[in-house]
Amino acid sequence: MVSVFNEILFPPNQTLLRPSLHSPTSFFTSPTRKFPRSRPNPILRCSIAEESTASPPKTRDSAPVDCVVVGGGVSGLCIAQALATKHANANVVVTEARDRVGGNITTMERDGYLWEEGPNSFQPSDPMLTMVVDSGLKDELVLGDPDAPRFVLWNRKLRPVPGKLTDLPFFDLMSIGGKIRAGFGALGIRPPPPGHEESVEEFVRRNLGDEVFERLIEPFCSGVYAGDPSKLSMKAAFGKVWKLEKNGGSIIGGTFKAIQERNGASKPPRDPRLPKPKGQTVGSFRKGLTMLPDAISARLGNKVKLSWKLSSISKLDSGEYSLTYETPEGVVSLQCKTVVLTIPSYVASTLLRPLSAAAADALSKFYYPPVAAVSISYPKEAIRSECLIDGELKGFGQLHPRSQGVETLGEY
Ligand SMILES: Cc1cc2nc3c(=O)[nH]c(=O)nc-3n(C[C@H](O)[C@H](O)[C@H](O)COP(=O)(O)OP(=O)(O)OC[C@H]3O[C@@H](n4cnc5c(N)ncnc54)[C@H](O)[C@@H]3O)c2cc1C
Repeated sequence: MVSVFNEILFPPNQTLLRPSLHSPTSFFTSPTRKFPRSRPNPILRCSIAEESTASPPKTRDSAPVDCVVVGGGVSGLCIAQALATKHANANVVVTEARDRVGGNITTMERDGYLWEEGPNSFQPSDPMLTMVVDSGLKDELVLGDPDAPRFVLWNRKLRPVPGKLTDLPFFDLMSIGGKIRAGFGALGIRPPPPGHEESVEEFVRRNLGDEVFERLIEPFCSGVYAGDPSKLSMKAAFGKVWKLEKNGGSIIGGTFKAIQERNGASKPPRDPRLPKPKGQTVGSFRKGLTMLPDAISARLGNKVKLSWKLSSISKLDSGEYSLTYETPEGVVSLQCKTVVLTIPSYVASTLLRPLSAAAADALSKFYYPPVAAVSISYPKEAIRSECLIDGELKGFGQLHPRSQGVETLGEY
């Protein structure tokens, strides 16, 4: 997850949440010395010190560091790449505790097989596509078939999820009563919002009814977030849908309003370098997701420090930060102006406690559900012919509602 600090702004009641691969790009700068956007490439004083673990780290002059990004997962690397692209002269360093970049991204290749043990795809939004193009991977991008159905297991049968509006009346995952309830709710004929921040379950049951929740949203939350929809915040997990009701009085009202606003607003031209995905789809790369962190890391070169584990952070009187690392060469101290933490929130909580107990308490409340990924290969002849579409195994995985009595969250 991306948690960035100088002054730490955590809402006290923040719930949630599984971090997302999609848009890791916000950061603050120090309130003591802010550089306005119009002033390019601020150069800041900093230093790197190296010393043995037996004695306190000593500072020696070195190249100045403007920003230290802690964590070499996809969030940290995308932030570093965005900074390096927009501020070519800024000195950005990425520090990663492990001896490889990528964090959760774990692509494996062996015996002719290529598989993912962590995330398997991303949504090809424009910010993600910008990262792909900037890292030189445009030609390696692979987009899924937008017509490949997704399936939900319901009453012992895999049922396709509607992919487009015209599928809505015909799909057999929901009853006619459930579809009518969802339609009325989407139009705004449903109980008004309560005064508190709703969970995904509360919001969906109230707006779209029990069937949409139990047969579509609950399996989606289990399969994608491995999370409990009664605890996930609607606003945080599905902010775009939450905003529709807030802005338009209902989901459909909000959709029309959003379309009107989009058509009325003058849009900046789309970056012509970006590929245009057809329909709703997902993306990866020819050699798996690991290509993205590997490519960004290769471009950043020696600005990426592997096996550097951050062990403490302190704030100096100058307003700068001093970071202390355990590295293969001993204890190293790095002084910098701005720090971006993209490490798991429980690690950030411990590191930030000396600076802000409130931030540490808030960060300690995020729940990280344990997930096991198992990869299995079958020969094509083992698939029953009635499971094939036009003789092919077509589809983008299956999701399993917890109510269906199977222990797996889904399959891809
Ligand atoms: C099984 C699984 C399947 C998933 N499937 C998908 C999917 O299909 N699509 C999708 O969009 N998302 C998916 N996700 C979520 C996605 O993987 C994460 O949102 C994303 O990888 C988070 O990236 P990150 O860089 O924020 O964090 P991480 O990947 O956790 O990276 C954090 C990095 O910080 C480093 N670090 C930790 N402590 C320190 C320290 N003290 N000093 C220095 N470095 C430190 C870690 O070693 C790590 O490399 C999945 C997640 C899992 C676990």
